[in-house]
Amino acid sequence: FASREIVSIERAEGSLPGAERGVKWEALGTMGDCVAQTTVLAGHLWDGSGAPPQANVAIQIAGGRIESCEALDSTAEDRGRRLVDLRGFWVMPGLIDAHMHLWGLTPGEVSPADYETRLSIAERQAKALLHAGFTTIRDLGSPITPRIRDSTSTDRPTAPRILAAHVGLTGARGPWLIPQPSWWEARVVRGVASAGDAVRRLHDEGVDVVKIGASTGPGAEGFGDIPTLTIDEIRAVCEAAHGFGLPVAAHAIGSEAVRRCVAGGVDTIEHGYGLSDDDCDLVAASNAWIVPTLRTRAFRSTAEAQATARAQMDTLQRGVAAGIRYAAGTDSVGDAATLHGPGNALEIELMGRVMPPDAALASGTREAAQMLGVDGETGTLAVGKCADLIAVPRDPRSDLLELQQVKFVMRSGRVVRDDTSAAES
Ligand SMILES: [Zn+2]
Repeated sequence: FASREIVSIERAEGSLPGAERGVKWEALGTMGDCVAQTTVLAGHLWDGSGAPPQANVAIQIAGGRIESCEALDSTAEDRGRRLVDLRGFWVMPGLIDAHMHLWGLTPGEVSPADYETRLSIAERQAKALLHAGFTTIRDLGSPITPRIRDSTSTDRPTAPRILAAHVGLTGARGPWLIPQPSWWEARVVRGVASAGDAVRRLHDEGVDVVKIGASTGPGAEGFGDIPTLTIDEIRAVCEAAHGFGLPVAAHAIGSEAVRRCVAGGVDTIEHGYGLSDDDCDLVAASNAWIVPTLRTRAFRSTAEAQATARAQMDTLQRGVAAGIRYAAGTDSVGDAATLHGPGNALEIELMGRVMPPDAALASGTREAAQMLGVDGETGTLAVGKCADLIAVPRDPRSDLLELQQVKFVMRSGRVVRDDTSAAES
């Protein structure tokens, strides 16, 4: 994940744009130092608002937040700010992976025995995600991730903004993952009475979201659509969590589990496939979102994975037609098939096989931010929001695979990656 140590910033001379400029490369600071006053010159801006892209925009940034997005003219450089020249690029909001896990696995899916080794692997994975353009991630189950969340510096971020579930809650009626991998940790809710205590403990441990496992699978038992929590248990978890201001994310596959989650009041349904048109109408009429986690099976060759991938795409088509709100989340765990990095952006490309390109891009930016409740901070490039932005060489709408070609990443106004000069030469 090598990145140049020095931020290269073009000093523009003469008026912009169009005038002849002497190009000088000057080291103005080390990585992450570009926070105070920055002007980003964007050749094309896809701001995530739903508006059409704009050409030649100057984004003024101060204190890590966006002050203005204006047509690029000769005054853009007059403010004496640091210039980041992305005129040869498409600029868009930083990406969001709304469902993933920093388990600290090696690519061979082997779990190192000790926590510290897993932590160091997970730290590298978090950094790889940030460099791949993911400025926000939601980890839905790993005891390692809260530590990474709490240790990353805001001045020199080495990880995305992290929302963490810590460990999940599952039902006593059946295991959530079959078989239970050694690195997985979940706590069992036994009846309504224990739900409140389990949620309070997670709250005290500092989670950002409560994760529950409401069904089995996917795995050995077909699509794994066996419910493992009752409606009353789900409702008790949701009421306790909402009382602490925490959302509830539910692993749920198949009609019955998803219907219980809707009835119980969960905020997000994870995986959420194996659904009929009626099920989709029910979800669409609720406040629940679905995170379809397509990447986790799309690129595996086993019969189970391929059958699951087909079921996922089938439900996604029904759900989009029904008007369900979707956010992109990969369920990547860092194994060989789901390495953390540029490949996490494949989720948006998979979304784009069902949705129009703008909607697919929104599922990994604006929509995901809304679902996670961080839309006041990120998800679009608008005045007042954090300057979480990335740059890719070509229009991502014409090929969503372009999202794997991120050359520049800024998180909250800090430049964390700049490979733009290499990309242009
Ligand atoms: Zn997951």
